[in-house]
Amino acid sequence: MAVLPTPTHRLDRLSAELGIDLWIKRDDLTGFAFGGNKGRKLEYLLGDLLSRNVQAVVTCGSAQSNFVRQLGVACALFGLRCVADVMEHPYEPGRQPARSAPGRSDQEGNALLSRWAGVELRWHDDGPWDELFEHAQRSAESLKAEGLTVEEIPVGGSSPLGAYAFVQATREAQGFDHVVCPCSSGSTHAGLGYAFCGTPTKVVGIACDPEPELVDELARLSRGLDEIEGLAKRLGPDDFDLRTDSVGGGYGIPSDDGREAFELMLRTEGIFLDPVYSAKAFAGLIKMARRGELTGRTLFWHTGGLPSLFAPGAMWAVPVK
Ligand SMILES: *Cc1c(COP(=O)(O)O)cnc(C)c1O
Repeated sequence: MAVLPTPTHRLDRLSAELGIDLWIKRDDLTGFAFGGNKGRKLEYLLGDLLSRNVQAVVTCGSAQSNFVRQLGVACALFGLRCVADVMEHPYEPGRQPARSAPGRSDQEGNALLSRWAGVELRWHDDGPWDELFEHAQRSAESLKAEGLTVEEIPVGGSSPLGAYAFVQATREAQGFDHVVCPCSSGSTHAGLGYAFCGTPTKVVGIACDPEPELVDELARLSRGLDEIEGLAKRLGPDDFDLRTDSVGGGYGIPSDDGREAFELMLRTEGIFLDPVYSAKAFAGLIKMARRGELTGRTLFWHTGGLPSLFAPGAMWAVPVK
């Protein structure tokens, strides 16, 4: 499915602009179902599902989830039924974002692409993530009641196997002093951080969810990686460098500095970022560069996500409170 390795190239004009030696990892070009980081995870996740003769999968996320889109296409290829419980903006309890609602739509962006792939989208009113997990659990139970072999896939494909895809990806990204990536469901950061831990390469994840507790999830995924790799790295939360200063108004809510980062990347290098993840991660990288933290060679991991540029209210033109 994924076309690997993805290109890794220097950003000459941005390097000059920011005064650092900046390179980019083009996982926006993984080549499968509009690209993005989930293509790497799905190589391993689908292999696992097929080896166990799973017939249907249930996952959940935001309606504009890139993972739902790519999982749905992968399921179509291999004849698996794919159900996704979605909310427009799931949130952490007590952290409901204030915003002007663009309205529910499955006619744009990832939601439309997911439907084209044959994903059964089950919509729910916005609520906390835990509520969404319960909906997914109920969907899985109903499919089991139909006699199907069902697997629940965690949000964003962030199982240890999903993280393992990013342990493998580090083979394509050797020789850097810093690697900066977005972090949301965690397996991208967990895999990169796990593989580079104990090497001269420092990995920094820029949080796209307002959750400093994400580091506990990274530690949990790394314990799963210990089992897959047969290693005893035993990484804890302190082994992961997660920055939460670029989240803005919350998960899925475009931020002002994300918009500046988006425009800088587009107008300097001709590369589009997405408003939910990669623009915020690049905004985080710019802050690090301005603080003088990025000496040596820096690699920005572009994780894709471009279909959400065409989602209702995804863009910065919509006023966000
Ligand atoms: C899912 C996603 C991320 C976050 O990766 P995680 O492994 O979930 O932390 C970043 N960028 C894009 C475009 C994504 O779709």
